[in-house]
Amino acid sequence: MQFIDLKAQYLQLQDKINGRIRGVLEHGKYIMGPEVSELESKLSEYVGVKHAVTCANGTDALQLALMAMDIGPGDAVFTTPFTFFATAEVISLVGATPIFVDIDERTYNIDHLRLEAAIEEIIDASELVAKAVISVDLFGLPADYEKLEPLCKRYKLKLIEDAAQGFGGEINGRRSGSFGDIATTSFFPAKPLGCYGDGGAIFTNSDDLAKKIKSLRIHGKGEDKYDNIAIGINSRLDTIQAAILLEKLAIFPREVDARQLVAKKYSDKLKDKVVIPYVPPYFQSSWAQYSVLAKDSEKRKELMAAYKKQGIPTVIYYSKPLHLQGAFEYLGIKEGAFPISESVSQRIFSLPMHPYLCEKQQDKIISVL
Ligand SMILES: *Cc1c(COP(=O)(O)O)cnc(C)c1O
Repeated sequence: MQFIDLKAQYLQLQDKINGRIRGVLEHGKYIMGPEVSELESKLSEYVGVKHAVTCANGTDALQLALMAMDIGPGDAVFTTPFTFFATAEVISLVGATPIFVDIDERTYNIDHLRLEAAIEEIIDASELVAKAVISVDLFGLPADYEKLEPLCKRYKLKLIEDAAQGFGGEINGRRSGSFGDIATTSFFPAKPLGCYGDGGAIFTNSDDLAKKIKSLRIHGKGEDKYDNIAIGINSRLDTIQAAILLEKLAIFPREVDARQLVAKKYSDKLKDKVVIPYVPPYFQSSWAQYSVLAKDSEKRKELMAAYKKQGIPTVIYYSKPLHLQGAFEYLGIKEGAFPISESVSQRIFSLPMHPYLCEKQQDKIISVL
């Protein structure tokens, strides 16, 4: 059994994807070919924002967002320690300082009350300037934007939605990728919408930010790439990846629906065995991961071993919160600083989740618990 079955999806789309790739081989515009702009317009339509700008991966998408907002040394950027490393990595990479804020114990997303306290603390007692928040839609569940958007407005902070996992999620019909000043996503193969390599995108309603990002992703180009008006990076989405994504995006809404059915069945059957994922009213998760909590780390070990014995893969996202990673030792944050993130990281693990998981496979996965 596969944790995420990309082959099952390919078998459904084989002819279409092969045809699209052949199309690129025939026209030969491998960089910024016509499929790239076709994809950008379809992505912006799907998400419901004015601009979608593709780039080389989800990490670059976050970096480009920070660069376009002129965030750098002396700036504080708030985020959660319970996420993939890249979310906080880019903050340090542009020279700013990550300020971690613990998560909500039910949603695993940034806790808006603790965020407000952390913002106040930086304003009162730090030389850093509070500039932005990067909220993460962890495991596919959108962060609480009904709270985060007004909060960031009140403190004049920029809000960046890291929707690398959230793409396909919704709040009240509003889609992930449309929250905050800028949203970013990743097309890494295992993400809800993945390509066959690395890829990413940035979403915004701001003409000014979109223009800056389009320049920054091609060496800070002006009129063309030999006219340079800013220090940028080289971060384009390959035309072949755009061609593949066009076919995958066409069936993506159906896949998101199929994931809801898988998640519902898991939750119905497992709710008395482990702590199942919490989805607040009016929220929809894209189910990038279906993650459950065991009672403690010993119990988790036992359950994961039982799965392994049955040939069923399970994975821990994430076993070490970011403030305890060696790379962030320089921030001087001690164990115990973010008790919820630390406790969840000891107990959480994820079950196989993808739109092509059949009933029989799911029954087998459920029966182990
Ligand atoms: C995957 C991921 C990223 C980075 O995306 P890449 O395309 O792998 O660079 C950033 N943030 C989160 C939350 C992710 O899950």
